[in-house]
Amino acid sequence: MNITGKTKKLGILGCPVEHSFSPRLHNAAFAALKIDYVYVPLPVQPEELATAFAGMKTLGFVGANVTIPHKIAIMPMLDELDESAKLVGAVNTLVKKEELWIGYNTDAIGFIASLKNHQVDLTPQPVLILGAGGAARAVVAGLIIEGFQEFYFAVRRPAQVEPMKEQFKNAVFHTVTFNSIGYNDALSMACLIINTTPIGMSPRIDDMVPCNFSKLKADAVLCDLIYNPTKTAFLHEGTKRGHKVVSGQGMLVEQGLKAFELWTGVTGPRDLYYQEIRNIL
Ligand code: NAP
Repeated sequence: MNITGKTKKLGILGCPVEHSFSPRLHNAAFAALKIDYVYVPLPVQPEELATAFAGMKTLGFVGANVTIPHKIAIMPMLDELDESAKLVGAVNTLVKKEELWIGYNTDAIGFIASLKNHQVDLTPQPVLILGAGGAARAVVAGLIIEGFQEFYFAVRRPAQVEPMKEQFKNAVFHTVTFNSIGYNDALSMACLIINTTPIGMSPRIDDMVPCNFSKLKADAVLCDLIYNPTKTAFLHEGTKRGHKVVSGQGMLVEQGLKAFELWTGVTGPRDLYYQEIRNIL
């Protein structure tokens, strides 16, 4: 990579960002396509977000990713919000267009693209989502775009689902707590089960989301948003029992490709992103 005074600067604002794969993925893509951009990690404490964003503007950045814990806090600082960000209620990608900073959300379409890449049947039906944090919100938004309307949430704090009800007024939400009778009923009814909790994420790769596998429909598809490891204990067990499984790596790549296109106007190299993830892991 040959960085000069003309190189266009991008970065990822988050806390922490040390673990992020995005710098490796995007820089590999810029190098492969010989596009003059560079992408750097930008660790920013919550109380420093406004100062950091002002600094990015002063230093001539042309875009960024935004991750935990800034995805909502950045919104009032932007000039415009794309429909994707309004729908999810959070921003993960910033693009500077002329002098305006516009917020997008590529997580929702990234999640759906990853399901489509695995030929998952997207006929609307009730789905079960484990966890109800920021990523779950993008999952719901993506599924709503596809026509899904009914969502079961398994959580340990039911109050966490309330903002989701506010955000997506036309959808139907049911909340159950883990290991309850209601949870077992939801497991036996769902055709699509999506883990959005960090349970099983590296380094605690032996941890498994609570799941009574004997209750699952034989054709239930299991998804995990975790991308490290490639296959969580949840997905390993699902595979062993004959279920189709979808790892979080697909969402990671697809949301990154969409952001890449928004910044550069060029289609990113999908295979290279997957190769780079294999190199990292
Ligand atoms: P988040 O906002 O912190 O939400 C995490 C959710 O999981 C919350 O509902 C949390 O509930 C629940 N949870 C955490 N630990 C739990 C436990 N031990 N038992 C039961 N529930 C638990 O995080 P997020 O941004 O949504 O991210 C969640 C996961 O998705 C992470 O693994 C992240 O790496 C992954 N992710 C992947 C992609 C991708 O592109 N593949 C994109 C975004 C996120 P409490 O509040 O009760 O703890």
